[in-house]
Amino acid sequence: MIDNIQWLGHDTFRIKGEKTIYTDPFKIRTKDAADIILITHEHYDHCSPEDIKKIQGPDTVIVATPDCAGQLSGKVKTVIPGDRITVQGIEIEAVPSYNTNKQFHTKDRNWVGYIFTVNGQRIYIAGDTDYIPEMKNIKADIALLPVSGTYVMTAEEAVQAALDIKPEIAIPMHYNSIVGSEKDAKKFAEGLKDKVEVIILKQE
Ligand SMILES: [Zn+2]
Repeated sequence: MIDNIQWLGHDTFRIKGEKTIYTDPFKIRTKDAADIILITHEHYDHCSPEDIKKIQGPDTVIVATPDCAGQLSGKVKTVIPGDRITVQGIEIEAVPSYNTNKQFHTKDRNWVGYIFTVNGQRIYIAGDTDYIPEMKNIKADIALLPVSGTYVMTAEEAVQAALDIKPEIAIPMHYNSIVGSEKDAKKFAEGLKDKVEVIILKQE
């Protein structure tokens, strides 16, 4: 069910379906071109122009928040939470993503997570967020959730998020790079045992 999803570390996923979609490319080695690149916010480990260039072709569409878009060239579309757009036939929704108990990603920045549908599966990537009330309204088959704490929610909080979202599969992210370790991913999986299937992807 998730053979088409590869984790390239941190919040970087390559998702293949009707199109090849990357999320927040950071420290990537691949040059496999993207049809669509989704950027959640302007922090350097999410909005990385040098990494984006590695996978950007003339027809690649980048969807980003305005503060990141200003650093990019090519086909760029900007979004704020609540926006819904269709890019190359793929429906993409930008949803809220913010901290509630720390100040790194305040709600007024209008940073985003994304929900998009590939191969008939709704995929949610949460961005750098805490456990927020809006998650109760998110419906997704696959949820990509940060688990490291510090700048984002902890593994325990991510368990609560997954219980709200009730995806078929939850995949932990945002560890092993800037902060967090596989321990956080395992804690997340243990917390959801017998409730939500968790798959810890191997970094590629
Ligand atoms: Zn951030």
